[in-house]
Amino acid sequence: MYAAAGIHPDDVGTLDEEKLQRLRDLCREEKTVAVGEIGLDYYWDKEPREIQKKWFREQLALAREQQLPVSIHSRDAAQDTFEILKSDHAGGAGGVLHCFSSSPQLAEEYVKMGYYIGIGGTVTFKNARVPKEVAARVPLERILIETDCPYLAPTPHRGKRNSSLNLPLVIQEIARIKGLTPDDVETATYENACRLFCIDPM
Ligand SMILES: [Zn+2]
Repeated sequence: MYAAAGIHPDDVGTLDEEKLQRLRDLCREEKTVAVGEIGLDYYWDKEPREIQKKWFREQLALAREQQLPVSIHSRDAAQDTFEILKSDHAGGAGGVLHCFSSSPQLAEEYVKMGYYIGIGGTVTFKNARVPKEVAARVPLERILIETDCPYLAPTPHRGKRNSSLNLPLVIQEIARIKGLTPDDVETATYENACRLFCIDPM
């Protein structure tokens, strides 16, 4: 198991310089492979938006300094997330837009900027037209699969506690949409994750 170290936008009110230093120390641990989840959440709006933006920027700077990729959380904040990533950007290590929930057009913009797109259980939901379109348009070499455990369990387990045992259902749906075999999708997304997080493949 590997770790990402970061403060989620719902909790950035607790951050200060001392805790940022603690995060920096965690980033230097051998098994820390990313800074995240960091970003903006205007759905729950648990912290003032200006505070969320400040600490999103500070943690992007931390990732650049530590040369680690980022895992981005963005909910109901597509425009501001995009603007901050355009202006501040992650470092050369890149990152993933985790549980990507915006438009296929925006996904393509992020791919052009060098990011990966995280796809989870929502792609299996029956009426999920937009996530299916995202899966169709993003090249396989840029897709990561994920659970967002305990949330977003795929069909037919929707509403129950999610687990990585459900990942084959996500893989099968991406394979169906792209006209590939589940094996193709499994192999490619595994390699993508190893590449992004600099993990030696098993
Ligand atoms: Zn998240």
